Amino acid sequence: MTSDDLLARHRAVMPSWMPIYYEEPLELVSGKGRRVTGADGREYLDFFGGVLTNMIGYDIPEITDPVRRQLDTGIVHTSTLYLIRQQVELAEKIARLSGIPDAKVFFTNSGTEANETALLLATAYRRSNQILAVRNSYHGRTYATMGITGHRSWSASSLNPLNVTFLHSGDRLRGLLAHLDDDAHIDAAVADLREVLATSTAGDVAALIAEPIQGVGGFVSAPDGLFGAYRKVLDETGILFISDEVQTGWGRTGEHFWGYQAHGVTPDLLTFAKGIGNGFALAGVVGRADVLDAIDVVSFSTFGGNPVSAAAGNAVVDYVLNNDLQANAARTGAILHEGLAARTKDLGIVGEVRGKGLMIGIELIEPGTTRPNSYATVRVFEECRRLGLLVGKGGLYGNTLRMGPPLTLTDDEAREGLDILVEALTIVDGEVQ
Ligand code: PLP
Repeated sequence: MTSDDLLARHRAVMPSWMPIYYEEPLELVSGKGRRVTGADGREYLDFFGGVLTNMIGYDIPEITDPVRRQLDTGIVHTSTLYLIRQQVELAEKIARLSGIPDAKVFFTNSGTEANETALLLATAYRRSNQILAVRNSYHGRTYATMGITGHRSWSASSLNPLNVTFLHSGDRLRGLLAHLDDDAHIDAAVADLREVLATSTAGDVAALIAEPIQGVGGFVSAPDGLFGAYRKVLDETGILFISDEVQTGWGRTGEHFWGYQAHGVTPDLLTFAKGIGNGFALAGVVGRADVLDAIDVVSFSTFGGNPVSAAAGNAVVDYVLNNDLQANAARTGAILHEGLAARTKDLGIVGEVRGKGLMIGIELIEPGTTRPNSYATVRVFEECRRLGLLVGKGGLYGNTLRMGPPLTLTDDEAREGLDILVEALTIVDGEVQ
C-alpha cells in the first residue's frame, strides 16, 4: 500500500480538521538518533522531533531499555488506583526540578489535559471562573483549553465554559506592542494587564496562564522579565500564575531549565507534556501543594503516569540531567541562531529569526513590508523536505518556520540543518523577488 492510499483512507475515516504536513504526506517508518526514514525510502534530519516530542531522539537505548524492562514485567497498566513505583519516583524528581517549594504533581496523558487540570485547580482554589490568557497562545484542544487559546485557527469555540480575557502578546512585528524595546514592551504589557483587570473582569480572577515562548503561535517570546512584572500586579489580589511549559521545559531554551526562569518569577502551577515522554504519552501539572489539594472531590486519571510512560519519563529526566542537555541546547542553538542571523540577513523574505536555544522560529514576510508571507513559508517548508530536513510551521498567519530538534543534536547536525535552511530560504527568496 502506498502513502497515497493511506492518505485517502485517513481522509475517509478521520475528521477533516486534522492537519497533515506536506503536499505529498510523509509516513515515517523508522528513526535513529536525530534521523528518520520515510516510506518514500528517504532519510531526513529531523528538526521538529514530532512537535518537540522526541526530545532525546529516536531509538535511544537509555530510554528504550528501561521501557522494555517495564514491559517485560507484564505490568503495562494497572490504573492509578494501585501504587506505581515509577510514577512516585518521577513525581519526586519533577517536584524537585520545578523550583516550586514543596510542590505536588498530577500526571495526565497530554498537554491539553494538563492545562485542563491546571484550570480546574486554579478556578476551584480561587472560586472564580475568570481566566487571563494571552493573544496568539495555544493551550490545547478541549472545551476549556480551546477557550483560553488566543489563536483563531486553533480555537473555533464560542461556547467557552470560562470567562476569559486576552492580554496583548509579545509579537515584535505587528500588534500594539510591536517595535517596542524590552523595557517599553514590559511597561505597555503591564499597563494592558491593569486595564484588563479594571475594565474586563470582576476583579476576582483565578489565574493568568501564559507560555514563556508561544509554541504554535510561532515561537513568539515575551521579553525576559515580563512575567515577573505581571506577577507584581497579580499578587495584589492573589491571582495565580500558570506557566505552560509544554514546549519550553527541560532545558530546551538553553539558558534555563524552565522558560519561566527568564522572568524572575516562580509560577503557582506549571504544566508539562511533549518531550518528557520522548514519544510516550506523558504529561502533567506540578505546583503549590495547597493549590493541587484544592479540589474537594475524588478524581484520578486511568492512564496518567502509567508504568510504561512513567518509566520513559524517569529515563528522559535522568538523560537530560546526566548529559546536561540544557548546555547542549545552548551550544547547538547558538550555531543555528547565529548562523541564521548572519546568513539570512540579506534575504527579503526573512522578517525575524527568534526564539531561544533549540526553539528557533523564522517568520517570513513579503519583502520590504511586515505582511505575513505564508506562500513563501510553505515553499521553504517543502524545499527543506526535498533537501532532507524536516521542520515545522506555525504562527498566527502560518508564516513561521519552527525548528525544535531533539536536545541531543550534535554540532555537525546543527551545521547540516543550518546549511539546508539557508539553501531553501535562498531558493525561495530568489523566486519571490
Ligand atoms: N500547551 C502547549 C504550549 C502546546 O504547544 C500544546 C500542544 O502543542 C498543548 C498545550 C497541548 O498538548 P497536547 O497536544 O499534548 O494535548
